[in-house]
Amino acid sequence: MAATPLDAEVGIVGTGTTGSMLSWQLARRGVGALAFEQFAPGHDRGAVGGETRLFRLAYAEGAQYVPLLRDSLRLWRELEAESGADILTQCGGLAIGDPAAEYLAGLIDSVHRTGVAVEVLSKGEAAQRYPQHRLRDGEVAVLDEQAGFLRCEQAVLSATRVAERLGARVLRYTEVTDIVEDADNVQLRTPERTYRVGQVVVCAGAWASRFLPERLAAAVDPRRVLLTWFGTENIDDYRPERFPIFIHHGGTAHIYGTPTVDDVMVKVAGAVVSHSVPDPAAVDRRHSSAEVCTIADAVRRMLPGLHPHPLRTDAFTDLYTSDGHPLVGRVGAGRVVLATGHSGRGFKFATGLAAVVADLLTGTADPRYEFMSPHRLA
Ligand SMILES: Cc1cc2nc3c(=O)[nH]c(=O)nc-3n(C[C@H](O)[C@H](O)[C@H](O)COP(=O)(O)OP(=O)(O)OC[C@H]3O[C@@H](n4cnc5c(N)ncnc54)[C@H](O)[C@@H]3O)c2cc1C
Repeated sequence: MAATPLDAEVGIVGTGTTGSMLSWQLARRGVGALAFEQFAPGHDRGAVGGETRLFRLAYAEGAQYVPLLRDSLRLWRELEAESGADILTQCGGLAIGDPAAEYLAGLIDSVHRTGVAVEVLSKGEAAQRYPQHRLRDGEVAVLDEQAGFLRCEQAVLSATRVAERLGARVLRYTEVTDIVEDADNVQLRTPERTYRVGQVVVCAGAWASRFLPERLAAAVDPRRVLLTWFGTENIDDYRPERFPIFIHHGGTAHIYGTPTVDDVMVKVAGAVVSHSVPDPAAVDRRHSSAEVCTIADAVRRMLPGLHPHPLRTDAFTDLYTSDGHPLVGRVGAGRVVLATGHSGRGFKFATGLAAVVADLLTGTADPRYEFMSPHRLA
């Protein structure tokens, strides 16, 4: 009896950040991709939303990410060229803090290992060039000129659009309820019907736990991550030309943010620590009064030119792993690939990571990213 033809060579569960970039990367390689999205690409209920995500090359979180970040930078520009959309603004980025403390010491070590160009500004120099920030004695500001911000919704929509133009199929409002690996294919069950694909990639973000082997599901948690926007009387001082993206580890508080993209508000977040949520679909999107007070207090101390009363608050979700590194690699009998667990950091390298996963699916595993293997958490 002849085998039933597959619905696609590769199935993608989730068409958010990673899934949209992977659809594009596979379609570019001529690989037939069928992507599923429980909502529609660009929606604001997962890790995408709130207009911007930071992009940085000077990377305190580990020098091993820098080749991926360099590839991602090139691919963001290629996505812009193929889609015609404006996605990445390289307005520079400041990392502010005590150079002896963990974050900046890690960043300085990372740039020494990778050759990423930075400029170190003393407190006085930073006050002259970036008076918007208030530094404490002993703090410095490290300027990464290649840093900037990504327009997150635009990025996801653009990748999806180009992928579909190149032949990928994206099924909107289609939830995958089960993944069943057989000897020569994988079944993807949805409420309407079952699809059969050669391999599947789980890009389900905060919802991915249900598709993980038990030992991995125990090593991840979906978290609620808060964003907040503030106003000012001097919005000109907070435009990309004058106000790079920033991360400020200020002793008692850690904040990060982006310049204004709407000429009204400046995004500042981070002071309120993300926390685990039982169900990403039911996340509370409002800040509590205590959460508002925490971020307002940090803004008052560290960004005195902003009014410390938020104009807008929102909450999104991401999947966090126990060691902060993503889960990327094959599990099960080998037809299921994970590309999730980006732990609050995964937007900036989504294009590069999608290329790594596309190469893995077509036969070439990149040994530089072995540190992301799901087997490390076994
Ligand atoms: C508030 C916030 C700020 C952040 N800031 C930064 C930053 O500045 N820089 C940075 O690099 N990173 C940042 N991150 C992290 C980054 O945004 C995430 O790591 C990354 O976007 C995660 O991508 P993902 O594809 O795993 O998840 P998502 O983009 O959420 O995509 C998962 C998709 O899967 C879909 N899905 C889930 N289950 C199913 C199913 N069963 N069937 C069909 N579809 C399904 C979901 O609907 C969703 O669309 C931030 C994250 C948050 C939440």
